[in-house]
Amino acid sequence: MLRHKYSVFIFFILLAFLFFTKASVLLYVLLFLAFLAITSWGAFDIRLNYFSKNICQSNNKIDKEIAITFDDGPHEKTEEILDILLKYNAKATFFCIGKQIEKYPQILKRIVAEGHNIGNHSYSHSNWNGFFSSQKIASEIEQTRELISQIAHNKTRLYRPPFGVTNPNIAHAISKTNQVVIGWNIRSLDTVIESEVLIFERIKKRVKPGSIILLHDTSAKTVWVLEQLLLFLQSEGYKTKTIEQLLDIQAYEITNNNEFV
Ligand SMILES: [Zn+2]
Repeated sequence: MLRHKYSVFIFFILLAFLFFTKASVLLYVLLFLAFLAITSWGAFDIRLNYFSKNICQSNNKIDKEIAITFDDGPHEKTEEILDILLKYNAKATFFCIGKQIEKYPQILKRIVAEGHNIGNHSYSHSNWNGFFSSQKIASEIEQTRELISQIAHNKTRLYRPPFGVTNPNIAHAISKTNQVVIGWNIRSLDTVIESEVLIFERIKKRVKPGSIILLHDTSAKTVWVLEQLLLFLQSEGYKTKTIEQLLDIQAYEITNNNEFV
């Protein structure tokens, strides 16, 4: 059972308890506020597996292997990211937005051609994604999967919800479309922190075997951070893997004749 079901259950037990003990209004207010706070935390922190089952790191905590993931591309900066990955012979995973794929189909082809994984990061990446119906979320997932399939000839199963936000509608859309949700356990905050050095230091002190790192291929800062990170990982004996390799899962659907689609 997912964690939100436990908290709804506990909420109703406590509500019944307050009712039968004729508790004051203040206690009702406190219960509602606590429930609201826990639900919001669960919605915004993908690592909690509150509404959906999300993979945020590898179970293998021994081998020095990690996955670097990039969200929100393809973008004009993606090519520079790809050049650096190529220079250090590193593999990564790109969670792409459908409307960006329409703008930069050639970059999507290059990502796949160079051996990286493609994941789905919705079609519109709308700020209102958390308020969409499950039907709308599922249709964006399918639309982006179809775009990736037309351009890169594979149907990804990897999905990362925009902003890492989950809720019952998003969870329902994920199970309806049979996606594997990939989160992260190291958030670089590369779109928030101004200083490249601070972003790099933040990641560096959190790296452990099995980590999944979140970066964005939409910022010039990330290009510098990536090169420093790859140098650091190399010096520490870490290997960078795609999500498929790190988690030992299938990133793409396989047809009945065992061909990738
Ligand atoms: Zn995003």
